[in-house]
Amino acid sequence: MQAKLIERVEVAPGLGHFVFEAENGAGLDFTPGQFVSLTTEISAKQITRAYSLASAPCAGVNRFELCLNLAPDGLFSHHLFRMKPGDAVEMRPPLGMFVLRRPPRDSLFIATGTGIAPFRSILKAHLNASSPQFTLIFGVRHESHLIYRAEFEDLSRQYPHFRFWPTLSRPEASWIGRSGHVQAHIDEALAGRRDVDVYLCGLKLMVDAVRSRLKAEGFDRKQIFYEKYD
Ligand SMILES: Cc1cc2nc3c(=O)[nH]c(=O)nc-3n(C[C@H](O)[C@H](O)[C@H](O)COP(=O)(O)OP(=O)(O)OC[C@H]3O[C@@H](n4cnc5c(N)ncnc54)[C@H](O)[C@@H]3O)c2cc1C
Repeated sequence: MQAKLIERVEVAPGLGHFVFEAENGAGLDFTPGQFVSLTTEISAKQITRAYSLASAPCAGVNRFELCLNLAPDGLFSHHLFRMKPGDAVEMRPPLGMFVLRRPPRDSLFIATGTGIAPFRSILKAHLNASSPQFTLIFGVRHESHLIYRAEFEDLSRQYPHFRFWPTLSRPEASWIGRSGHVQAHIDEALAGRRDVDVYLCGLKLMVDAVRSRLKAEGFDRKQIFYEKYD
Protein backbone atom coordinates (compact mmCIF):
# COMPACT_ATOMS: atom_id res chain seq x y z
CA MET A 1 0.00 0.00 0.00
CA GLN A 2 1.03 3.62 -0.40
CA ALA A 3 1.31 6.21 2.37
CA LYS A 4 0.77 9.82 1.34
CA LEU A 5 2.45 12.62 3.27
CA ILE A 6 -0.13 15.05 4.64
CA GLU A 7 2.17 17.34 6.59
CA ARG A 8 5.54 17.61 8.25
CA VAL A 9 6.32 19.85 11.18
CA GLU A 10 10.00 20.38 11.92
CA VAL A 11 9.97 20.46 15.71
CA ALA A 12 13.71 21.06 16.07
CA PRO A 13 16.56 21.06 13.56
CA GLY A 14 16.62 17.58 12.04
CA LEU A 15 13.65 16.36 14.07
CA GLY A 16 10.27 16.06 12.40
CA HIS A 17 6.71 15.11 13.23
CA PHE A 18 5.14 13.60 10.08
CA VAL A 19 1.47 12.94 9.35
CA PHE A 20 0.78 10.31 6.69
CA GLU A 21 -2.37 8.77 5.29
CA ALA A 22 -2.43 5.10 4.35
CA GLU A 23 -4.12 4.82 0.99
CA ASN A 24 -5.93 1.58 1.75
CA GLY A 25 -9.46 2.91 2.01
CA ALA A 26 -10.08 1.38 5.44
CA GLY A 27 -8.63 2.44 8.76
CA LEU A 28 -5.09 1.49 9.73
CA ASP A 29 -5.29 -1.31 12.26
CA PHE A 30 -2.37 -1.63 14.68
CA THR A 31 -1.40 -2.15 18.30
CA PRO A 32 0.27 0.82 20.01
CA GLY A 33 4.04 0.29 19.97
CA GLN A 34 4.15 -1.28 16.49
CA PHE A 35 6.02 0.07 13.47
CA VAL A 36 5.51 0.40 9.74
CA SER A 37 8.07 -0.45 7.06
CA LEU A 38 8.53 2.12 4.33
CA THR A 39 10.26 1.35 1.05
CA THR A 40 11.58 3.50 -1.76
CA GLU A 41 14.14 3.34 -4.53
CA ILE A 42 17.31 5.30 -3.89
CA SER A 43 20.14 5.21 -6.46
CA ALA A 44 18.45 2.27 -8.23
CA LYS A 45 18.23 0.24 -5.00
CA GLN A 46 15.12 -0.69 -3.03
CA ILE A 47 15.63 0.58 0.51
CA THR A 48 13.33 -0.30 3.42
CA ARG A 49 13.32 1.18 6.90
CA ALA A 50 11.11 0.68 9.96
CA TYR A 51 9.42 3.57 11.77
CA SER A 52 7.42 3.33 15.01
CA LEU A 53 3.90 4.69 14.92
CA ALA A 54 3.71 7.74 17.18
CA SER A 55 -0.07 8.07 17.07
CA ALA A 56 -2.73 5.86 18.64
CA PRO A 57 -4.94 3.64 16.47
CA CYS A 58 -8.45 4.87 15.87
CA ALA A 59 -11.18 2.76 14.21
CA GLY A 60 -11.77 3.78 10.61
CA VAL A 61 -8.92 6.32 10.59
CA ASN A 62 -6.07 5.80 8.14
CA ARG A 63 -3.97 8.78 9.17
CA PHE A 64 -0.94 8.02 11.28
CA GLU A 65 1.99 9.94 12.73
CA LEU A 66 5.71 9.32 12.80
CA CYS A 67 8.50 11.02 14.66
CA LEU A 68 11.68 11.13 12.63
CA ASN A 69 15.26 12.02 13.08
CA LEU A 70 17.38 13.10 10.13
CA ALA A 71 20.20 10.58 10.66
CA PRO A 72 23.63 12.01 9.75
CA ASP A 73 24.24 10.90 6.13
CA GLY A 74 21.14 8.71 6.49
CA LEU A 75 19.77 7.52 3.16
CA PHE A 76 16.12 6.96 3.95
CA SER A 77 15.62 9.68 6.52
CA HIS A 78 16.94 12.25 4.02
CA HIS A 79 14.47 10.93 1.48
CA LEU A 80 11.59 11.32 3.96
CA PHE A 81 12.64 14.85 4.92
CA ARG A 82 12.69 15.79 1.21
CA MET A 83 9.10 14.63 0.69
CA LYS A 84 6.43 17.28 0.08
CA PRO A 85 2.78 17.04 1.10
CA GLY A 86 1.02 14.86 -1.48
CA ASP A 87 4.13 12.72 -2.16
CA ALA A 88 3.74 9.00 -1.45
CA VAL A 89 5.97 6.20 -0.26
CA GLU A 90 5.44 2.43 -0.34
CA MET A 91 4.43 1.03 3.02
CA ARG A 92 3.83 -2.39 4.58
CA PRO A 93 1.16 -2.92 7.24
CA PRO A 94 2.10 -2.39 10.91
CA LEU A 95 4.08 -5.10 12.67
CA GLY A 96 6.03 -5.63 15.85
CA MET A 97 6.06 -7.08 19.35
CA PHE A 98 6.99 -3.92 21.28
CA VAL A 99 3.53 -3.56 22.73
CA LEU A 100 2.19 -3.24 26.25
CA ARG A 101 1.90 -6.55 28.11
CA ARG A 102 -1.71 -7.63 28.70
CA PRO A 103 -2.84 -7.03 31.35
CA PRO A 104 -0.47 -4.12 31.86
CA ARG A 105 1.44 -3.75 35.14
CA ASP A 106 3.13 -0.75 36.71
CA SER A 107 5.68 0.11 34.06
CA LEU A 108 8.77 2.17 33.47
CA PHE A 109 9.14 3.51 29.93
CA ILE A 110 12.60 4.69 28.92
CA ALA A 111 13.14 6.50 25.62
CA THR A 112 15.98 8.35 24.02
CA GLY A 113 15.47 10.60 20.99
CA THR A 114 12.88 9.41 18.50
CA GLY A 115 12.49 6.30 20.67
CA ILE A 116 9.72 8.37 22.24
CA ALA A 117 7.41 7.51 19.30
CA PRO A 118 5.99 4.15 20.48
CA PHE A 119 5.50 5.47 24.01
CA ARG A 120 3.42 8.37 22.73
CA SER A 121 1.20 5.83 20.96
CA ILE A 122 1.02 3.56 24.01
CA LEU A 123 0.21 6.39 26.41
CA LYS A 124 -2.42 7.91 24.13
CA ALA A 125 -4.12 4.54 23.88
CA HIS A 126 -3.65 3.05 27.35
CA LEU A 127 -3.27 5.82 29.92
CA ASN A 128 -6.57 6.42 31.67
CA ALA A 129 -7.97 6.80 35.19
CA SER A 130 -7.74 3.06 35.89
CA SER A 131 -4.42 2.21 34.21
CA PRO A 132 -1.41 1.11 36.30
CA GLN A 133 1.34 3.53 37.23
CA PHE A 134 3.42 4.55 34.21
CA THR A 135 6.68 6.48 34.44
CA LEU A 136 8.31 7.88 31.31
CA ILE A 137 11.99 8.81 31.43
CA PHE A 138 12.78 10.68 28.21
CA GLY A 139 16.40 11.46 27.44
CA VAL A 140 17.59 13.92 24.80
CA ARG A 141 20.60 16.17 24.48
CA HIS A 142 18.95 19.58 24.43
CA GLU A 143 15.68 21.02 25.71
CA SER A 144 14.59 21.85 22.14
CA HIS A 145 14.56 18.11 21.36
CA LEU A 146 11.94 17.29 24.00
CA ILE A 147 9.37 16.51 21.36
CA TYR A 148 5.75 16.21 22.64
CA ARG A 149 6.80 17.68 25.99
CA ALA A 150 3.61 19.73 26.45
CA GLU A 151 1.46 16.66 25.75
CA PHE A 152 3.27 14.55 28.34
CA GLU A 153 3.20 17.37 30.88
CA ASP A 154 -0.56 17.72 30.37
CA LEU A 155 -1.01 13.97 30.86
CA SER A 156 1.05 14.04 34.07
CA ARG A 157 -1.16 16.82 35.44
CA GLN A 158 -4.31 14.96 34.45
CA TYR A 159 -3.22 11.55 35.77
CA PRO A 160 -1.29 11.49 39.08
CA HIS A 161 -0.23 7.90 38.33
CA PHE A 162 1.69 9.06 35.24
CA ARG A 163 5.11 10.54 35.88
CA PHE A 164 6.98 12.33 33.10
CA TRP A 165 10.70 12.75 33.73
CA PRO A 166 12.56 14.47 30.89
CA THR A 167 16.34 14.51 31.23
CA LEU A 168 18.96 16.38 29.23
CA SER A 169 22.46 15.05 28.62
CA ARG A 170 23.74 18.46 27.45
CA PRO A 171 21.55 20.94 29.31
CA GLU A 172 21.75 24.65 28.68
CA ALA A 173 22.56 26.78 31.75
CA SER A 174 18.90 27.83 32.03
CA TRP A 175 17.64 24.21 32.48
CA ILE A 176 16.50 23.44 36.02
CA GLY A 177 15.11 19.95 35.41
CA ARG A 178 16.79 16.53 35.44
CA SER A 179 20.09 16.10 33.71
CA GLY A 180 22.41 13.30 32.67
CA HIS A 181 21.64 10.09 30.83
CA VAL A 182 18.41 8.19 31.44
CA GLN A 183 20.39 5.67 33.51
CA ALA A 184 20.91 8.30 36.22
CA HIS A 185 17.18 8.29 37.05
CA ILE A 186 16.26 4.62 36.96
CA ASP A 187 16.89 3.81 40.64
CA GLU A 188 14.73 6.71 41.76
CA ALA A 189 11.95 5.65 39.39
CA LEU A 190 12.02 2.04 40.61
CA ALA A 191 12.41 2.94 44.31
CA GLY A 192 13.63 -0.59 45.04
CA ARG A 193 10.72 -2.30 43.32
CA ARG A 194 11.26 -5.32 41.09
CA ASP A 195 7.59 -5.96 40.23
CA VAL A 196 7.65 -3.39 37.45
CA ASP A 197 7.87 -3.98 33.71
CA VAL A 198 10.49 -1.95 31.89
CA TYR A 199 10.17 -0.89 28.25
CA LEU A 200 13.19 0.55 26.41
CA CYS A 201 13.31 2.25 23.03
CA GLY A 202 16.09 4.06 21.20
CA LEU A 203 19.56 3.42 19.92
CA LYS A 204 21.39 0.19 20.80
CA LEU A 205 23.91 1.85 23.11
CA MET A 206 21.23 2.93 25.59
CA VAL A 207 19.08 -0.20 25.26
CA ASP A 208 22.01 -2.58 25.84
CA ALA A 209 23.39 -0.57 28.77
CA VAL A 210 20.04 -0.42 30.55
CA ARG A 211 19.22 -4.09 29.91
CA SER A 212 22.54 -5.26 31.38
CA ARG A 213 22.06 -3.08 34.39
CA LEU A 214 18.50 -4.27 35.04
CA LYS A 215 19.55 -7.90 34.70
CA ALA A 216 22.41 -7.33 37.15
CA GLU A 217 19.87 -5.81 39.54
CA GLY A 218 17.73 -8.95 39.45
CA PHE A 219 15.16 -8.17 36.77
CA ASP A 220 13.87 -11.16 34.86
CA ARG A 221 14.33 -11.05 31.06
CA LYS A 222 10.57 -11.35 30.68
CA GLN A 223 10.06 -8.03 32.47
CA ILE A 224 12.24 -6.14 30.01
CA PHE A 225 10.80 -5.22 26.63
CA TYR A 226 12.83 -3.33 24.07
CA GLU A 227 13.05 -1.95 20.54
CA LYS A 228 16.42 -1.02 19.10
CA TYR A 229 16.55 1.48 16.28
CA ASP A 230 20.04 0.63 15.00
C1 LIG B 1 11.58 -1.23 14.74
C2 LIG B 1 12.25 0.09 14.39
C3 LIG B 1 11.56 1.27 14.57
C4 LIG B 1 12.17 2.49 14.24
N1 LIG B 1 11.48 3.64 14.46
C5 LIG B 1 12.07 4.84 14.19
C6 LIG B 1 11.37 6.05 14.45
O1 LIG B 1 10.23 6.06 14.94
N2 LIG B 1 12.00 7.23 14.15
C7 LIG B 1 13.27 7.25 13.63
O2 LIG B 1 13.79 8.35 13.37
N3 LIG B 1 13.96 6.11 13.38
C8 LIG B 1 13.38 4.91 13.63
N4 LIG B 1 14.04 3.74 13.36
C9 LIG B 1 15.34 3.82 12.66
C10 LIG B 1 15.08 3.84 11.14
O3 LIG B 1 14.56 2.59 10.71
C11 LIG B 1 16.35 4.11 10.33
O4 LIG B 1 17.37 3.26 10.76
C12 LIG B 1 16.81 5.55 10.47
O5 LIG B 1 15.83 6.44 9.92
C13 LIG B 1 18.14 5.75 9.71
O6 LIG B 1 17.92 5.32 8.39
P1 LIG B 1 18.71 6.02 7.21
O7 LIG B 1 18.51 5.25 5.95
O8 LIG B 1 18.39 7.50 7.18
O9 LIG B 1 20.21 5.89 7.69
P2 LIG B 1 21.31 4.87 7.15
O10 LIG B 1 21.80 5.32 5.83
O11 LIG B 1 20.80 3.47 7.26
O12 LIG B 1 22.40 5.14 8.26
C14 LIG B 1 22.21 4.51 9.52
C15 LIG B 1 22.78 5.39 10.61
O13 LIG B 1 21.68 6.04 11.26
C16 LIG B 1 21.75 5.80 12.66
N5 LIG B 1 20.36 5.85 13.17
C17 LIG B 1 19.38 4.92 13.07
N6 LIG B 1 18.24 5.36 13.64
C18 LIG B 1 18.51 6.59 14.09
C19 LIG B 1 17.73 7.56 14.77
N7 LIG B 1 16.43 7.35 15.04
N8 LIG B 1 18.35 8.71 15.10
C20 LIG B 1 19.66 8.94 14.77
N9 LIG B 1 20.43 8.09 14.13
C21 LIG B 1 19.86 6.92 13.79
C22 LIG B 1 22.43 4.46 12.79
O14 LIG B 1 23.07 4.32 14.02
C23 LIG B 1 23.43 4.52 11.66
O15 LIG B 1 24.60 5.18 12.09
C24 LIG B 1 13.48 2.51 13.70
C25 LIG B 1 14.16 1.31 13.52
C26 LIG B 1 13.58 0.11 13.86
C27 LIG B 1 14.34 -1.18 13.66
